Amino acid sequence: MALEDYKRKRDFTKSPEPSGDEPPARRRRKVDERFFSVQKHLARHLHYDLRLELNGVLLSWAVPKGPSLNPKDKRLAMHVEDHPLDYGTFEGVIPEGYGAGIVMLWDTGTWKPLVDNVEAALKTGDLKFELDGYKLKGSWALIRTRGYGRQGDGRSWLLIKHRDDWAGEVDITTFAPLSVKSNQDFHEILAADDPSVWRTNRPVEGGATGTMLRAIIEKAAALKAERGAKPRKAPSKRPRRPSQGKKEPT
Ligand code: MN
Repeated sequence: MALEDYKRKRDFTKSPEPSGDEPPARRRRKVDERFFSVQKHLARHLHYDLRLELNGVLLSWAVPKGPSLNPKDKRLAMHVEDHPLDYGTFEGVIPEGYGAGIVMLWDTGTWKPLVDNVEAALKTGDLKFELDGYKLKGSWALIRTRGYGRQGDGRSWLLIKHRDDWAGEVDITTFAPLSVKSNQDFHEILAADDPSVWRTNRPVEGGATGTMLRAIIEKAAALKAERGAKPRKAPSKRPRRPSQGKKEPT
């Protein structure tokens, strides 16, 4: 479970992403609870990266449609390379290169395996676990499948919610779309960054995502222009937007 794949794909002199060289901050928690997060990632395609801490790294799955609270939904989850622990709370802009785009910390909390041996469960391709985040809670499963993508590559899994008190029909990705770290949307995260970073960040031309990214870049520029005209208020005094009046499930 080394981070060679992760490091090979990134140039840390250019990227604000954590290199994985720094030790993660100590968190107080029960012994069987481990860190988890979901990072909403607008790159070539919008997707949600599910990260589960295990043995000092973050096991990672890219979920194109994001998690669903509905047990009837089986969400494709592509197993990708392990990420360093300190990447798990990262939110910001990735300049050109692998994963170029904007990263939002969409959910975070702790996870607990519901199996005795996590490594064995990963080998078998059937990991049952519990999440305790802000948006995602209760019992879940990751099941490896052969029914999608290149045959036999073993990277295709399905993320499925188990039937419990935390299951439901609400579309959590549209009901609770914002960051749990900053309460911001993509364009605000982008606007908070240094312009020289985000100006180089136009990895997509054409297609639905290209349009989405361009729209976000325009929104970010407008937000910056507005800030430039007015004195900047302290974040705590920032007026709440109407969408934040909605109470997210706890
Ligand atoms: Mn990603």
